[in-house]
Amino acid sequence: MSTQPLVIGKFSLGMGDRFAHEAEAQLAACLAARKLGVEIVPVWNKSNREHNIIGSEPTSTRAAADAAVKALGWTAPYFLDADHIGLKTVDRFVGVSDFFTIDVADFIAQPAAPAAVQAFVDRHPELVGTITLAGIDRPFTTTRADVERTAAKFLLAVQEAGKVYRHIVSVKGVGRFVPEISMDETDSPQTPPELLVILAAIADEGVPIQTIAPKFTGRFNKGVDYVGDLAQFEREFNDDLCVIAHAVKQYGLPANLKLSVHSGSDKFSIYPAIRRALAKHGAGVHVKTAGTTWLEEVIGLAEAGGAGLALAKEIYAEALSHMDELCQPYATVIDIDRSKLPAAAVVDGWTSEQFVGALRHDQKNPLYNANIRQLIHVGFKVAAKMGPRYLEQLKACRESCARNVTGNLLERHIRPLFL
Ligand SMILES: [Zn+2]
Repeated sequence: MSTQPLVIGKFSLGMGDRFAHEAEAQLAACLAARKLGVEIVPVWNKSNREHNIIGSEPTSTRAAADAAVKALGWTAPYFLDADHIGLKTVDRFVGVSDFFTIDVADFIAQPAAPAAVQAFVDRHPELVGTITLAGIDRPFTTTRADVERTAAKFLLAVQEAGKVYRHIVSVKGVGRFVPEISMDETDSPQTPPELLVILAAIADEGVPIQTIAPKFTGRFNKGVDYVGDLAQFEREFNDDLCVIAHAVKQYGLPANLKLSVHSGSDKFSIYPAIRRALAKHGAGVHVKTAGTTWLEEVIGLAEAGGAGLALAKEIYAEALSHMDELCQPYATVIDIDRSKLPAAAVVDGWTSEQFVGALRHDQKNPLYNANIRQLIHVGFKVAAKMGPRYLEQLKACRESCARNVTGNLLERHIRPLFL
């Protein structure tokens, strides 16, 4: 085993593969990007929640990734992300993962001990007053009370991240994994001045994070485009990059520290802003996608016609009749207008073209239906329940599923962001 610490490259793409059948098709997108001149580090991510819903183990993700790497002769680094783990869930992943998304969102706003807050602010007089950061026109102006408020809100979460990090280190060793801290699954976005305080606290806690996932302004719903103020997003994303560059120097965080954009798939309207910001600051980014690949599988089945299309229709019908149960775990990250969901009997009469048109994320296609897309996005439990019947159909429709998976990542994600 190499003794070099594991370091993630500048541009990386988190890819989800719910049924562990698409790793080759996903890697093919990174391989194509490489031939077109940009290195994209593939990172296979799967959360504890997904494993529980599907009934799979992290070892299956590892096996699928390793097999794809071998089959396609991929020689560059790749990672396996234990996505959204905490102290209670990390152990299942610790043997096979080398990237850990330490999710501490649940600890935000649980107030830290007042003494710890005072000690933090005493240690960081540089966070109070007028803070001028390279690249940001308007300096941040903060009072001691502001910093106390921010520290009280985030310090406990950062301390929790420290506990999880040290637990992973105790098993794997220092430098044997890429640590990320995520704070995205919470109600309110973190502002750039808050991010600065958070990064100072993370450095104090001794967690050498290489990626950080704040919650950005606007809505990042599953499988559909961004909804929010594009100008504000762009301003804050640029500010966040400046905050990170500053924190790397000021607090000695890893030089490759970068933003991680969660629910980053299909956010087509913000990709130009992200692309501009990365170019302007010479910054890297991790864009995490997950369910977009599962949707491409269903599109691939529908496109194949025959038994594939029939199974896709069955998935829709089942998802429709179990909508409440399927939507519940994702309630905060979907917006489905139920009045725009056609009855199962209507969809049953659809052609392959109609089904594919409704589901594929092409906003210019009049057949596209974002409500159907979100329902299917959360409906993977239906396919999990079908078990071998679903997997056999995936194999039977291998070509169309793989073509859609690769095309989606390459043309709709990698190209607008990086090429
Ligand atoms: Zn997330």
